[in-house]
Amino acid sequence: MSGIPRRDFLRIAGGAALLGGTLGFPGLLLAASRKVVIVGGGVGGSTAAKYLKKLDPRIEVTLITDAPHYTSCFLSNEVLSGERTIDSLMFGYQGLARYGVGLVVDPAVAIDPAQRVVQTAGGTRLDYDACIVSPGVDFKWDSIEGYDEAIAEYLPHAWYGGPQTVLLRRQIEAMPQGGTVVIVSPPNPFKCPPGPYERASQIAMYFRHHNPRAKILILDAKDAFSKQDLFEQGWAQLYRYGTEDSMIEWVGAAGGGTVTSLDPSTGTLDAEVEEFRGDVINIIPAQKAGKIAFAADLVEDDWCPVDKRTFESSRHPGIYVLGDATNASKMPKSAYAANSQAKVAALAIVARFDGREPDDATYVNTCYSILGEDFGISVAGIYYLDAANNMLEEIPGSGGVSPLDASAELRRREVTYAHSWFKNLIDDMMQ
Ligand SMILES: Cc1cc2nc3c(=O)[nH]c(=O)nc-3n(C[C@H](O)[C@H](O)[C@H](O)COP(=O)(O)OP(=O)(O)OC[C@H]3O[C@@H](n4cnc5c(N)ncnc54)[C@H](O)[C@@H]3O)c2cc1C
Repeated sequence: MSGIPRRDFLRIAGGAALLGGTLGFPGLLLAASRKVVIVGGGVGGSTAAKYLKKLDPRIEVTLITDAPHYTSCFLSNEVLSGERTIDSLMFGYQGLARYGVGLVVDPAVAIDPAQRVVQTAGGTRLDYDACIVSPGVDFKWDSIEGYDEAIAEYLPHAWYGGPQTVLLRRQIEAMPQGGTVVIVSPPNPFKCPPGPYERASQIAMYFRHHNPRAKILILDAKDAFSKQDLFEQGWAQLYRYGTEDSMIEWVGAAGGGTVTSLDPSTGTLDAEVEEFRGDVINIIPAQKAGKIAFAADLVEDDWCPVDKRTFESSRHPGIYVLGDATNASKMPKSAYAANSQAKVAALAIVARFDGREPDDATYVNTCYSILGEDFGISVAGIYYLDAANNMLEEIPGSGGVSPLDASAELRRREVTYAHSWFKNLIDDMMQ
């Protein structure tokens, strides 16, 4: 063959095929006019926008967001302990504009997979050759009687970074000495499996200095949780967990932790065996794919099924679903997972435009939790596609959790890693 590198040859070959094809097949378009419309400017959407432009600057990429900036959920538990401000979690889209990504700040309300058009609340209609949907989660408001969207405005779930995070922080600061915060942890699957337990740790970290007799009670709809051994060991070291005097108590489903109803006027929660009362109530509701995924008919059993080789919807070809809204088992619903999936989808879309099969991919997840000032733990995994079962399986020995009984130095370093992970992830998705 000539000196043309294989990748360029394939692109040229794909382009030539398309050029010939446009005469007889109007569905096939020239590279310069290919359009990708992305719904959701969080981790999955922003990463995909940036990487599409990096992979092929000729693609016209439009990102539809519902706000002029993104507020991160990850590290938002540090706002609750007072370790950081909400402003430090807010990022504009100027970085993506520098790559040539177009921005529409107007929520998407409908996607027509037949006409290949996305429509926004303000009436803008954007046609696409490929559409990416990464809207995050929505909440199942009927899962706990008495708790709904209106009540969440003053008893915040704070499961999105933003005003509710700040409100919950104020309630924690204003809680009477010796009071109790109740965290209601949702059933699986939900975004950020270690999140509720990191939240309890961060609140305890604040109370240790400002409200030393306060308690944090976690009522859980599950019998086990992510990195449980590490959390429990850390809580024992930091917050007297397992003693009469523990600052944190966890009640799993078998112990009667599943909450069925709330009386918002008294702060009383009905669980299966007994009632609990809190001075601050933080219910994290059960979850499902974001609203637009339902409106676009992308959902089966609460989540969006996808071909995990490409993240293309199993229900509507040409639409790719990323991040928390997908059923990406066995990857967890995390920021790192959404970032990794976005790159897989961007490569698959470019391959499709070039008339190629997508390459095999590996998929990565890492998640840190900060339990105390100098106490971090983590989980990591690298996944491969078991194509026969459309399942992402962890490569044996590729990851795991940080060791039990680690040195104080390792725990301290994991906090530093967590903070640099955050900076690197934000840079990778939108700078
Ligand atoms: C307390 C907490 C701590 C966390 N900590 C970590 C951590 O340490 N590590 C980690 O890896 N992950 C963490 N996560 C999880 C992480 O935040 C999510 O998994 C990640 O953000 C998922 O990315 P996504 O693109 O699917 O959704 P998101 O990042 O939530 O982005 C979705 C975006 O789409 C927007 N949107 C929705 N519908 C529309 C529409 N119709 N039109 C336009 N825009 C729309 C939303 O407003 C949002 O901005 C944490 C989560 C929480 C709640």
